[in-house]
Amino acid sequence: MPTDLPIPSANASLPPAGEIGSETPVTDQTDLLGLTAAELGAWLSERGQPAYRARQLAGAIYHTLTSDFAAMSTLPAALRERLAHEARITGPTVRAEVISKDVRTRKLLLELSDGRLIETVLMLYPASAEGRARATVCVSTQVGCAYGCTFCATGQMGFERHLTAGEIVAQVLRFARDLRAHPWQAPDGQTLDHVTNLVFMGMGEPLHNYDNTLKALRILNMPEGLHIGARHMTVSTVGLVPGIRRLAEEDLQVNLAISLHAPNDELRLRTMPVTRKYPIADVLAACQAYVARTNRQVTFEYVLLAGVNDAPEHARELAALLAPLAHLGHVNLIPVNATAANYRPPSGEAIRLFRDILRAGGVSNSVRAERGDDIAAACGQLRTRVTQARGNAQSVGKKQAAHEAQQAQKAGGE
Ligand code: SF4
Repeated sequence: MPTDLPIPSANASLPPAGEIGSETPVTDQTDLLGLTAAELGAWLSERGQPAYRARQLAGAIYHTLTSDFAAMSTLPAALRERLAHEARITGPTVRAEVISKDVRTRKLLLELSDGRLIETVLMLYPASAEGRARATVCVSTQVGCAYGCTFCATGQMGFERHLTAGEIVAQVLRFARDLRAHPWQAPDGQTLDHVTNLVFMGMGEPLHNYDNTLKALRILNMPEGLHIGARHMTVSTVGLVPGIRRLAEEDLQVNLAISLHAPNDELRLRTMPVTRKYPIADVLAACQAYVARTNRQVTFEYVLLAGVNDAPEHARELAALLAPLAHLGHVNLIPVNATAANYRPPSGEAIRLFRDILRAGGVSNSVRAERGDDIAAACGQLRTRVTQARGNAQSVGKKQAAHEAQQAQKAGGE
């Protein structure tokens, strides 16, 4: 059960019940990527296998990074054959791949088993004062999104369906294999051959798909799997209060990022319809509870939209709002991606002024370096472009087919 009901906006259309493909696809084979270590053990035990086989199988999937059962030489031949019939480790198919000019941002457009498209991004960060070099994967948790934030390409698609835990894990595994095959040489000489960090900031609202997101977090965190530390994972939300409170009660110390994007409800409502259900005050109260319970900090994301929320008075209001909660976390200022429809990023001077006002007001902040403008890295943009291109191709194809049918009819009539 999701923790919360979606707040469909005027732009966010839910698919009609029963529409083909609107549900998560069901197959007879078990998706092993959607199983925790305990579930993997139970699944094998039901098939008469000893307990240690779960470790061997998890090792083949997550350490050797094999997806071919036949190549899992640590398993007996009979079990490999049975796995090939009853289980799968298949990831989605790569439909497009784009790499930024600096080669540090790679975005994949992935096609799921039901033909739906999602995006996943790998971002490579050199070592900095904050720490070692990182290979961060930004995962999607839904196809489309019900929340309709006006600056977000995914929000304009409407909600299609939740991703399964296995489909979320598969996105990370895809880049884990790539990094193993082609390690990144960071400028400081460090070699990165594995995924170090995860952000749940791709397509969809993770807390709307609570159960599958949580399960994926646990699978990605388990020692038998990729063993990515919870403190290296960040779940981003528009502020679904019940989901934040529920996450605080899990025994996982993941970081929380709140998409705030405005200093007051009235302005926030203009770009984020969810504000109607969860006003800023309720979201901040849930954040306080999260920090008190988990001892983790919260990041407040603030996308800077020129002429909308980037004025000095907005910065002053934001500082006044967050200064009493300064111990909670940090503000990430994100100039909107230059390729976003209908919005443009503020000037460098406006960004500096905004930062300075926040800092003077006692609110720690940084400007997140824009990444991948040249590859449409903002959430949903690549899928939108490809889908539009497909639509155009289809309509050209349909016109062509109609023309040919007309010609054939004419020829038949003659
Ligand atoms: S910003 Fe996040 S919650 Fe808002 S529409 Fe985009 S994907 Fe959905």
